[in-house]
Amino acid sequence: MGHDSESDWSFRSDNFDTRAVHAGQQPDPHTGAVVPALSLSTTFAQASAGVHKGYDYSRSGNPTRAAFETAVASLEQGKHCLAFASGSVTTATIVNMLPAGSHLVSVNDVYGGTFRYFTKVAASNGVDVSFVDMNDPNNILKHIKPNTRMIWIETPTNPTLRLVDIAAVAKIAHSRPDLLLVVDNTFMSPYFQNPLTLGADIVVHSVTKYINGHSDVVGGVAITNSEAIFEKLRFLQNSIGGVPSPFDCFLANRGLKTLHIRMRQHQENALAVAKHLESSPHVERVIYPGLPSHPQHALAMRQSKGFSGMVSFRIKQGTLDKSNTFLASLRLFCLAESLGCVESLAELPAVMTHASLTPEARAALGVDEGLIRLSVGIEDKRDLIRDLDQALEKAVKGVKVAGKL
Ligand SMILES: *Cc1c(COP(=O)(O)O)cnc(C)c1O
Repeated sequence: MGHDSESDWSFRSDNFDTRAVHAGQQPDPHTGAVVPALSLSTTFAQASAGVHKGYDYSRSGNPTRAAFETAVASLEQGKHCLAFASGSVTTATIVNMLPAGSHLVSVNDVYGGTFRYFTKVAASNGVDVSFVDMNDPNNILKHIKPNTRMIWIETPTNPTLRLVDIAAVAKIAHSRPDLLLVVDNTFMSPYFQNPLTLGADIVVHSVTKYINGHSDVVGGVAITNSEAIFEKLRFLQNSIGGVPSPFDCFLANRGLKTLHIRMRQHQENALAVAKHLESSPHVERVIYPGLPSHPQHALAMRQSKGFSGMVSFRIKQGTLDKSNTFLASLRLFCLAESLGCVESLAELPAVMTHASLTPEARAALGVDEGLIRLSVGIEDKRDLIRDLDQALEKAVKGVKVAGKL
């Protein structure tokens, strides 16, 4: 099915930058084209009934998708990757591995859409989910039941950027039979963190974020080293059919080739922004795992190769009014949901990405109306800092600013 990375990747490299450019991208044997073809055909000619070149129907397998899947598997240090139409349907497909009557343990501040799927969809399909504070991974032990089949974590979490010790959770998961660890690695990208190497069974990404990186594709991927998990997920990918279009695979594959360059710049800019905000008289607290002030900075240093481009902070004596003035005053940062793309974005989680949580749940996570989340892009960091500074000045002075659109 085009997943054979041996044949797709003759020159092997231990170096991420080389694999980002070349994995799965060998020249077309028929034409010499350097870029994998955008293969729009939904069906594939068969030499005789049941005899074909690895593709029969495009939901089951597609050459453009296979090239992208091979590239992502290589970057996540996994054997197999499956691509999906969104991060959300990737999650849904993975949870569909579990029979009704199963129990899943999730980190408490999981991505909002994942929380919605767990509580509103999985629950009605007979999969029961417990949400657990995993600051101390041993908390998980109290919630494991005989029917627990999956642990689901994100690290860092969104938007409070709390870390979970992946290796410690993997150890807990693998001390039981039939308990899989899934890590949503969206916030770090394969460049900064590879959970499979720390013991995870499945890694998930919303391709919409860093992997594609250009705010023009919604997509998802699941990566694993296990043949059994891969076969199960491939069956479900085909049966449920939440597959990405060839065009989206083509674009995401193009985005992926500069992932290393983008991630280095995201991180350089995010660190500069975080340090600058930390020194601002108008800021109460900055949350960035790359700052020594982050309570889990040591864990970040241990399990990751970097800190990525997400920064959260609280305006001094923050209120909804101040946050709104700040966000409406930004000129370069765009007020928008989503993250991980080349342009810098800012948002107010309490009102935007985390609006679907109950006020009590938001309070428990520390998501109040003064907490601002930044996705720091790859522009010149001096311009980013200048923009934040002028918007902070207006926010603390209570300047009235009309909405931007
Ligand atoms: C965006 C996101 C998702 C969902 O992905 P979509 O592509 O929007 O469906 C899941 N997890 C995290 C951490 C995300 O940021």
